[in-house]
Amino acid sequence: PLVLGIETSCDETGVALVRGRELLVDTVASSMDDHARYGGIIPEVASRAHLEAMIPTLERTLGTADVDLSEVDAVAVTAGPGLVGPLTIGASAAKALALALDKPLYGVNHVIGHAAVDELVHGAFPDRFLSLVVSGGHSSLLLVDDVATSVTELGSTLDDAAGEAFDKVGRLLGLPYPGGPHIDRLAREGDPTAIRFPRGLTARKDQEKHADDFSFSGLKTAVARWVEARTDAGEEIPVPDVAASFAEAVADVLTAKTIAACHRHEVDTLVVGGGFSANSQLRDMAAARCAEAGIELRIPPIRYCTDNGAMIAALGSAVVRAGVAPSSLDIGVDSSMPLTVSHV
Ligand code: ATP
Ligand code: MG
Ligand code: FE
Repeated sequence: PLVLGIETSCDETGVALVRGRELLVDTVASSMDDHARYGGIIPEVASRAHLEAMIPTLERTLGTADVDLSEVDAVAVTAGPGLVGPLTIGASAAKALALALDKPLYGVNHVIGHAAVDELVHGAFPDRFLSLVVSGGHSSLLLVDDVATSVTELGSTLDDAAGEAFDKVGRLLGLPYPGGPHIDRLAREGDPTAIRFPRGLTARKDQEKHADDFSFSGLKTAVARWVEARTDAGEEIPVPDVAASFAEAVADVLTAKTIAACHRHEVDTLVVGGGFSANSQLRDMAAARCAEAGIELRIPPIRYCTDNGAMIAALGSAVVRAGVAPSSLDIGVDSSMPLTVSHV
């Protein structure tokens, strides 16, 4: 079946067409330029941008794929988690399309979509795998038996998400919003061993209760203190070294804890997804450590790590394959949709 996927949970308007596990076309429009000067996403601005971008993005996707709307077999849309206003614009568009075309609607989970998109790149998933989803709002370890019907959340961040921590450290280093990609770029010129920043929840005492959880706010505070102390002393801040040492600490914790979880849960495939999986320090360290541990690592190319419509069409397609009943046309959106719920 040909599945149309619509994503509007944050600042990207994404529309894509997927048939089975094959991606036909993926189109993304972003309103990030309108938010950057505020240092964060303004929900009302994002909602209006989705409203303006929806029809053109849909038309561009259909045109590029040379597909007529009547050929679409199912419509998948992000039902949550995300910003309520933006989610509502996407859900309204999807419902209108499903109703007009008389085709089934599937409301799906954005965060699980960040994992599901990898099927379009690296093929069918194995029967059981672990997924590390790291983004602006989430840092979670998922045990996946079936991306459409059986996802268990093993653990998550107790405070900041990895991308959020990067954006906050970016702000304190005076970098533009979002800081994540800027820190990534600067870190490549710095020395990752220059400063030893703390590794949250890796102490022996945390292993029992929080083996699969993360914490990045202590690290963020440690960076702030380090920078403050140098600034007060009138010293120059070695920004590339701070960026590299900070990025090293985040990548170290994420990869060490995730690989330990793979061993504990006896899985040999790891799928990494979400906007933060664009991070080069994380990608490099995950590749090296998974190779060493005998774990097959699957990370999609960067354009499928950040928000897009392909991830929603991919999960929608998996849900259709699983034979799940379609969503009702009066489903609501859920800003804090649990990560154990693939579809509503
Ligand atoms: P969620 O998926 O939890 O709803 P989101 O959709 O807002 O959150 P994504 O778009 O998936 O988040 O990811 C955006 C985050 O990824 C931002 O915090 C951004 O700084 C971060 N990010 C993107 N590229 C990089 C990079 N190369 N290095 C570090 N962080 C990055
Ligand atoms: Mg985004
Ligand atoms: Fe996302």
